[in-house]
Amino acid sequence: MINALFSANDAAWPDYSEALPPAFKKFGLKVDLSRDHPPETVDYIIAAPNGPVQDFAPFTRCKAVLNLWAGVEDIAPNPTLTQPLARMVDKGLTDGMVEWVVAHTMRHHMGLDHHINGQDGIWRTDYPPLAADRPVTILGLGELGVACAKALRDLGFPVSGWSRSQKAVDGVTCHSGEDGFHRALTDAEILILLLPLTDATTNIINAETLTLLAKGAFVINPGRGPLIDDDALIAALGTNIAHATLDVFRTEPLPKNHVFWAHPQVTVTPHIASTTRPKTAANCIAENIRRGEAGEAFLHLVDRSRGY
Ligand code: NAP
Repeated sequence: MINALFSANDAAWPDYSEALPPAFKKFGLKVDLSRDHPPETVDYIIAAPNGPVQDFAPFTRCKAVLNLWAGVEDIAPNPTLTQPLARMVDKGLTDGMVEWVVAHTMRHHMGLDHHINGQDGIWRTDYPPLAADRPVTILGLGELGVACAKALRDLGFPVSGWSRSQKAVDGVTCHSGEDGFHRALTDAEILILLLPLTDATTNIINAETLTLLAKGAFVINPGRGPLIDDDALIAALGTNIAHATLDVFRTEPLPKNHVFWAHPQVTVTPHIASTTRPKTAANCIAENIRRGEAGEAFLHLVDRSRGY
């Protein structure tokens, strides 16, 4: 019997305790899933970064910590976590992100607010441009960035992307490295941030980099709040940035008195761009436990030196 400890908040337990057992069965695993195995008996920890286990040192038998979230900035630096750490790659999470990114891209591209807010009897006949005339750039070409890039490409947008290592995605202009960063940002009309939060990506969108975007550009951030220098963004909303749609913030929930809430050129969404979906995520967890038991390499391992 394999002992798996579930370490997430109470609200997550009903869905995961329903979704995980059938996935374990499907992968041929006999797993005792519990919220209170004694630490020294635990083979795997299924963990949310804000879950009850914060000291991983007593889990001496644990072969891997399987993160329930895609983002690992709150768990990867934990000095007690010496076991392999795998992050979440979940079809449901990816599909949700694609839908959110496409919706907010289309809102800005089509100028939907212009007509929705202008129900005033005036017959406005200005046509929205075609997607083909609206360059979109995605920073981060990982699981989520590539899926969003493909969806926007399929709608006809000229899509550029940027990542640390060079990628090849059919129909997407892929950049990497510092030069590539400038090329990716220059003249982009819609910028989408899907980078992880690391030392290297903190404030990557700042006063200097915002000026590279096209005049009237839209910024969409479902990545992490500190990717953007907030003060620089607010200043740029008075110059070349038309609007920012922000799902993630330095402090969450975003404080009630924060300038973003009332700013006419900012849309706040409450970190709902996507979430891990237990039914599909259960497969990711079960597959990694199967691998651990078979002595195979774990999928989606976090590289602590890179921070993601
Ligand atoms: P991922 O698969 O790890 O992809 C990260 C991408 O960022 C990779 O392409 C990586 O390049 C690139 N990258 C990282 N550091 C870089 C750097 N310094 N310079 C250039 N490129 C860099 O992550 P993911 O699953 O797509 O998720 C991305 C982020 O989305 C998560 O970390 C999380 O913060 C956020 N997220 C938000 C929500 C929400 O609801 N708002 C939900 C889920 C996730 P390489 O490919 O070369 O490694």
